[in-house]
Amino acid sequence: MSDDSQRFPARPGADPAAGLPELPVAAELRACRLCVQRFAATATAHEPRPVVWFARGARVLVASQAPGMRVHQSGRPFTDASGQRLRDWMGVDEATFYDRSRVAIVPMGFCFPGYDAKGADLPPPPICARTWRARIMHDLDPQVTLLIGGHAIRWHLGLRDVTAAVAGWRDHAPRVFPLPHPSWRNTAWLKRNPWFQAELVPELRKTLAEVL
Ligand code: SF4
Repeated sequence: MSDDSQRFPARPGADPAAGLPELPVAAELRACRLCVQRFAATATAHEPRPVVWFARGARVLVASQAPGMRVHQSGRPFTDASGQRLRDWMGVDEATFYDRSRVAIVPMGFCFPGYDAKGADLPPPPICARTWRARIMHDLDPQVTLLIGGHAIRWHLGLRDVTAAVAGWRDHAPRVFPLPHPSWRNTAWLKRNPWFQAELVPELRKTLAEVL
């Protein structure tokens, strides 16, 4: 595993990729090694690589789950099939989605957690949200928040049943949209719940078109 601090050097006060004003917490987060032993014990034995993708002033917050292996390698959130599906739900192109002045992407775990025995991604380490999330949320003031999957729905809304939370989206829209994770693993869920594509997605696109 290469040294990420060399490949992705942190410059105090600046977003390394976009030159945007950076939140004070970002440089500290990028250097986080809290899970080094946890990740070393997984089958991939990888090192922490926090994927930090937010800036002050973003109008839309994507509260996501955790990077997968592809994102761990790319260092850019949602550079995978889940990202394609999420951007389709949102009705935005890549340029808009990756514009940190407009969209903040803040996962429940900033690093790839590794795989479980069945080859599925492990859940985000709870220590990550405990350590970082409240500080980051304090500095963001989004007009619209997308909650991606059960971990984000639980943290932000205190709801445990993802299907019930998503089905109750009208209780929270247009400021908050609870969504299933856009992973291929949820394709069967999407087929079982056609109201999601027919009713929620058009409203989400309309709201984001107005805000973005
Ligand atoms: S998952 Fe979060 S707490 Fe763990 S090393 Fe990465 S940034 Fe730190």
